Amino acid sequence: MKYDYLVVGAGLFGMVFAHEAAAKGKKVLVIDKRPHIGGNIYTESVEGINVHKYGAHIFHTNDKRIWDYANRFAQFNRFTNSPVANYKGELYSLPFNMYTFNKMWGVVTPDEAKAKIEAQRLAAGITEPKNLEEQAISLVGSDIYEKLVKGYTRKQWGRPCDQLPSFIIKRLPVRFTFDNNYFNALYQGIPIGGYTKMAENMLSGVEVELGCDFLSDREKYTALAGKIIYTGAIDAFYGYKYGALEYRSVRFDTKVLDTPNFQGNAVVNYTDDETPYTRIIEHKFFEFGTQPKTVISYEYSSEWKKGDEPYYPVNDEKNGELYNKYKALAQSESKVIFGGRLGEYKYYDMDKVIESALNLCAKLL
Ligand SMILES: Cc1cc2nc3c(=O)[nH]c(=O)nc-3n(C[C@H](O)[C@H](O)[C@H](O)COP(=O)(O)OP(=O)(O)OC[C@H]3O[C@@H](n4cnc5c(N)ncnc54)[C@H](O)[C@@H]3O)c2cc1C
Repeated sequence: MKYDYLVVGAGLFGMVFAHEAAAKGKKVLVIDKRPHIGGNIYTESVEGINVHKYGAHIFHTNDKRIWDYANRFAQFNRFTNSPVANYKGELYSLPFNMYTFNKMWGVVTPDEAKAKIEAQRLAAGITEPKNLEEQAISLVGSDIYEKLVKGYTRKQWGRPCDQLPSFIIKRLPVRFTFDNNYFNALYQGIPIGGYTKMAENMLSGVEVELGCDFLSDREKYTALAGKIIYTGAIDAFYGYKYGALEYRSVRFDTKVLDTPNFQGNAVVNYTDDETPYTRIIEHKFFEFGTQPKTVISYEYSSEWKKGDEPYYPVNDEKNGELYNKYKALAQSESKVIFGGRLGEYKYYDMDKVIESALNLCAKLL
């Protein structure tokens, strides 16, 4: 065998594993079917602006060990995610906080805001929320639900809120303080110079082959290494023999504009039902860019079909059961270990992917 490890997928999971294995003196080959490293955190420079090609990525964590680990490969800036909601031209602060309540109702104190929400919850007659609509109304009242939750969530999930389970927004951030920092994390930021530079640092000294699909020649690739770390889709690995796992996908329409400032913020959510896109991302603001031009991406949420990029796993009962069938097959593999968001059919934030890859390293290396 030429290598100790073949890592399928140069995303964050694969990169962490490959870096650690190489540091321990193992012979490692990383392959990816895409023409670049980084997986979904890949950024591409356009007009000097680092464009988040597969969606906006903001690093945030409460875990000092993971934060220190990420900082070995990049210097992070102090970007704080404070999205703005645009409802038919009315702008609101997100996540829901005292600025939002003040704009919506003119209330000034937290007690006034709480009283307003409680009155709207009582008027809606909700005691035990049975679906997302009722859950949202009981958390933030009917006005915020109608203007800031209803249309956005319908677009995001492709179904009306009264047909979605309440748990999706169980943890909707609601604050009775003037704090519009979206994440409740101790550490937050964007790698200065983009995620691709960070990915290059992680894979420095590691052999990488791009444009190689493991599944198109699995015999050749399997013969190359003693063990395989597979971070591609688990159902694809097994030829979809039990059926395809479902995802929500996102389509990005990216434009370069001849203006230095289009919307004044990195993230603006369009929360009405009629606007077809869910968000506009203005990439330069992740790094406080001052370039003369700007790059924006319209995000359209869509149903996933084979051939589309799989983004968000659909964590319902049906897909959970299907995943468990594939997982049982995966557990009986002697040579292949599945990891990452596609290999484990799990929504993982970046810090959790790093943690999971480091746990695997601790077990294997
Ligand atoms: C739209 C969106 C926004 C996000 N925003 C955030 C955020 O703000 N903050 C945060 O912490 N996290 C965010 N995440 C999560 C983040 O993207 C993931 O944590 C991380 O990218 C997962 O890394 P991974 O290695 O598991 O998967 P991936 O990055 O998907 O890497 C898997 C790699 O495997 C390759 N591959 C697949 N099959 C094969 C094959 N057969 N042969 C060869 N290569 C193959 C793929 O091309 C890909 O490069 C976001 C996710 C999405 C979808």
